[in-house]
Amino acid sequence: MNPNYEILFEPVKIGPVTAPNRFYQVPHASGMTEANPRVRAAFRATKAEGGWGVVTTGAVSTHPSSDDSPLPFARLWDDNDIRSHALTCDAIHQHDALAAVELWHGGAAVMNRSSRIAPYSPSGIPWAATHVGFMGQLRPRVMDQQDIRDVIGWQVAAARRARSAGFDIVYIYAGMGYLGYEFLLDDYNHRTDAYGGSVENRVRFVRELIESTKDAVGQDCGVALRISLEELRGKASDNFASQAHEVVSLLSDLPDLWDVKMDSSPTDCGASRFRPEGAHEPVIDFVRTVTDKPVVGVGRFTSPDTMVSQIKRGVLDLIGGARPSIADPFLPNKIREGREDEIRECIDCNICISSWHDGVPVRCTQNATAGEEWRRGWHPEKVSPAASNDNILIVGGGPAGLEAALIAARRGYQVTLAEKAPEFGGRLRFETSLPGLATWGRVRDYRLYALQKMGNVNLYSNSEMGVDEVLGLGHQRVAIATGARWTQALYSSLEIPKGELKGPGVYTPDDLAAGKVPRGPILVYDFDNYYLGGAIAESLAGQGMSVTYATPAGHASAWTIMTNEQPFVHQNLHKLGVDITTQALLDSFEAGLATLSNIFTGELSTLEVSSVVIVGLRLPADDLYQSLCDCEAQWQGAGIESVERIGDAFAAGALVHAVHSGHAWSRGLDNPDAENYLRDIPIAEFPPGPVIN
Ligand code: ADP
Ligand code: SF4
Repeated sequence: MNPNYEILFEPVKIGPVTAPNRFYQVPHASGMTEANPRVRAAFRATKAEGGWGVVTTGAVSTHPSSDDSPLPFARLWDDNDIRSHALTCDAIHQHDALAAVELWHGGAAVMNRSSRIAPYSPSGIPWAATHVGFMGQLRPRVMDQQDIRDVIGWQVAAARRARSAGFDIVYIYAGMGYLGYEFLLDDYNHRTDAYGGSVENRVRFVRELIESTKDAVGQDCGVALRISLEELRGKASDNFASQAHEVVSLLSDLPDLWDVKMDSSPTDCGASRFRPEGAHEPVIDFVRTVTDKPVVGVGRFTSPDTMVSQIKRGVLDLIGGARPSIADPFLPNKIREGREDEIRECIDCNICISSWHDGVPVRCTQNATAGEEWRRGWHPEKVSPAASNDNILIVGGGPAGLEAALIAARRGYQVTLAEKAPEFGGRLRFETSLPGLATWGRVRDYRLYALQKMGNVNLYSNSEMGVDEVLGLGHQRVAIATGARWTQALYSSLEIPKGELKGPGVYTPDDLAAGKVPRGPILVYDFDNYYLGGAIAESLAGQGMSVTYATPAGHASAWTIMTNEQPFVHQNLHKLGVDITTQALLDSFEAGLATLSNIFTGELSTLEVSSVVIVGLRLPADDLYQSLCDCEAQWQGAGIESVERIGDAFAAGALVHAVHSGHAWSRGLDNPDAENYLRDIPIAEFPPGPVIN
């Protein structure tokens, strides 16, 4: 290990327990609930195995009045929930890490759709959200004194259960719009009793949660406070630098650990497209000066130098990681073993967060094994040795081809990777040149760097493979990873792609990637709805062209609401003067006139533009595969056993799908059951019954 990094491996005392090092996996959603306890235990334990000194759950509800359905959330509602959490604790403890639990009451930020309990809030004000999944129509109740006592009682009961499950650290959650936080904000807390008014009064509810939790389990467990400080830091205080300073000063040494963060998911879990590493620091930098208790915070830290600097400058005591720990559960061990150049760095694409919004267990672009540890038996660092001497040919060096090559090579197969372009990376060659997307190049760089160091890999760029070349090489196993192509298809009011818009001045992202430059003014027409349409509009406008962005959806880059990017897509397009037209279908483009119709009303409008860039339907570019299938009779003579498509050449998707596909192919080279996975089931000790607190 680089001696400069030794400080990262010092133990840190958190109340009655001690973290073995400063690597702290802060709470993050995993989409794993009591429905899949083994999936959850293995996911968290893998991080402990990889060296994270503390591993925390995502939000764990203390009572049915904190019910985020249909979003996935965990529970400690009654004793039946203890054993499934105990599984996680035991698995984490096997690697000598501490297990922490983020106990949580969502207040008015949850809709209690399943329990049908009117949400709890300080003053009856709904926690509004622009995300459909978070909107609800049932307005919250105003909590009375009994309600306050109840919520504190549920926290205490859940904390006791957490201790029985084996957790070492128990949280109070006062962040991200949830109940504790709702009491802190004067805009939201209008109470006139002892819990509203002055900052001291507004802090009272959180104080009582901490005190009661400490009384109940503080002898055995560290008690952590997770708090959002962004909004409070912007609010003036009579006697302190801000209300954030006042709140932290009032609670100062009461919690055993401060876990400090931003207020909303888009700022707290910012995407690299829009927010730099360490973006939290200006908000949380003061906390360490106001308390003697350890402070943990995040900032997408993947560089050990940055981590050391955070500690030496007195900003943080523990290096918090959520996404970096998903992308590389073995990040701490790699630093300890002097292998920091092998860290699989998170690209901050927020696909992991989209999994939670989708209500499913976590997926990760960089780490195909995330969430697959138990059900598919995939380990992020270990692979089973090759079961044959087959030679492997992979055609196409994009994300799918690179991942397939890496995993096959790690397994010990002799691998040839052929790429027709001068450089590897596939779609990333172009896309990383777009505004904010350079960090995504880590998907290529991590894999290429590892492959270049291996003796059993031949990497050929500038090598277009046709049928003759594939047959001529005669490798036993062939993967076709030739990607997908963007079409000029339009979109119908039935919401399906239709026809093609031909003619001069019509471009696709592939044309731009090939170096063609559309003449302005330009219409970017996007019904792909992910990042690319918005990023291309931003890029063209940034080059000084006049750009209109149109989409049948209700927002620009509509799906990026799932990845916390949408607000910033709109902000950037607005800053660059890009006109955004939503609910719009492109009907035709002739003689410099684009005709659009409203998807709901059919009302027509026209736009004078010189070029149209369509970012819409993408289909597999699998010509080589089809040609090889046409001559299947020749495979045996050439020594070929199988030819299969992977990644976008099989089914066009996002980077996460391509990487997963390449990974699965190489794991399954000698395992016909590779597509199957174990189905998890809940653990219940007692028969069904009422929730008793
Ligand atoms: P994926 O996301 O599935 O990896 P990409 O489109 O990113 O797909 O990458 C596909 C890669 O395959 C591109 O780099 C492309 O240049 C390469 N490719 C396509 N056809 C051939 C071929 N016949 N021979 C070698 N490389 C090819
Ligand atoms: Fe990072 Fe993206 Fe993986 Fe999330 S999905 S951990 S943001 S690489």
